[in-house]
Amino acid sequence: MRIFTKSEEISRQCDEWRNSGDTIALAPTMGYYHAGHESLIRWARNNADRAVVSLFVNPAQFGPNEDLAAYPRNFERDAKIAESLGVDALFCPESSDIYADDHATWVISPVLSAGLCGASRPVHFKGVCTIVLKLFNIIRPHAAVFGEKDWQQQAVIKRMVRDLNVPVKIVSLPAVREKDGLAMSSRNVYLSPEERAQAPKIREGLLRAREACQKGETSFAAIKKALLEFWAAEAPLGACEYAEAVDPETLEPMSTIDKASLLACAMRFGGARLIDNILLRN
Ligand code: AMP
Repeated sequence: MRIFTKSEEISRQCDEWRNSGDTIALAPTMGYYHAGHESLIRWARNNADRAVVSLFVNPAQFGPNEDLAAYPRNFERDAKIAESLGVDALFCPESSDIYADDHATWVISPVLSAGLCGASRPVHFKGVCTIVLKLFNIIRPHAAVFGEKDWQQQAVIKRMVRDLNVPVKIVSLPAVREKDGLAMSSRNVYLSPEERAQAPKIREGLLRAREACQKGETSFAAIKKALLEFWAAEAPLGACEYAEAVDPETLEPMSTIDKASLLACAMRFGGARLIDNILLRN
């Protein structure tokens, strides 16, 4: 595995690969790898001639009062994992390589970014779209892979790629979970033992909501009421930031669950903000 810190150098390497006929798959990450990242990296390894992983804690997607400084990092361990999974190139640039001092151009996708996480993180998806488009331009992969744990993120990226005719195939993969159902996240390390014990209730509540739909409930107001009551009783250390039913593709809110619908939520446990989602109907 080769490690690159300069955009120009990894661009040159990827040009060489492409010119010799190799396909390239990219897995963009912010590091501190868990099995969710590993499934994306394996997909890249197994579906292209060259697997490229980017590891960059993108400052532009963190708001001023968010956890950029505290975000967990372990480059040595991550590099070992990437290498053991057969990655060809790991791209871990400095922020100054990515953002010039006078960087002034941003990609925004305001409609899909307005609700869900975007409501409490107003600059988040602007930072995500901008870094992802920059990575696509630096690496020019044939395919790029994202996790459905961050459903809104992959929906926003798919829309950006469609709207701007970016020549890349976007693949999304199911969330990888701990045995007790908690979605894996680099941010789970922020949880105290008591919070960690209650965090799987996020998933349990979502499963109950899906079950209610399967039994014929179509009112999202009724589903949400039961869900919030369940969380209040079973996960009192958690505070629900949002729980919304949306069209899985357009992310438009839904009040009647009579067609494909995604239930997405964010819960705060102390300093940890955890997100999860489930398809109520597909
Ligand atoms: P991050 O390093 O948290 O920015 O995540 C990098 C990529 O891994 C994103 O596409 C995430 O959606 C994906 N990812 C994060 N957690 C999981 C998970 N538990 N299962 C599958 N993919 C995940």
